[in-house]
Amino acid sequence: MRRSARRRRTVSAYREGDRTVVLIPARMSEAEERRWVSVMLDKLAAQESKRVLGDSQLAERARRLSEQFFEGRARPTSVRWVTNQNTRWGSCTPAEGSIRLSHRLQGMPEYVVDYVLVHELAHLLVPGHGPRFWQLLEAYPRTERARGYLEGVVAADRLPHLPAAREE
Ligand SMILES: [Zn+2]
Repeated sequence: MRRSARRRRTVSAYREGDRTVVLIPARMSEAEERRWVSVMLDKLAAQESKRVLGDSQLAERARRLSEQFFEGRARPTSVRWVTNQNTRWGSCTPAEGSIRLSHRLQGMPEYVVDYVLVHELAHLLVPGHGPRFWQLLEAYPRTERARGYLEGVVAADRLPHLPAAREE
């Protein structure tokens, strides 16, 4: 914790290596200080849980999923987020071994992102959506649930939007 004489009203917090720094105004009471430290720690934790996987973490995740469900046989050469893919959740180019995930998946539950990764990994082994493909996907226990979630997202996009609540 750092007290700052120049700091009058604002409280902020950030991680510095494995320490957390909370900046608070110098004249704050100890009770206020304790309250703010816990508020800021909660806030940091919430931000961190929402943080999106970076491309290198995405590649690492794909590697682990391949190991877990396909005995490591699917070996993508690159796995990355793309923002120009609005009609498909994921795509791959088997000849190059590249996998792309739509940025629209960011913020969705982990098991949904994993499903799309597993789906694209499976395409590196079996092109198309024939029986052999879906047989491969049976290895991933949340396939049905993830597909249901994604179908729900698509359906919700097509619903007429409810009028916004009025403030009176
Ligand atoms: Zn597919």
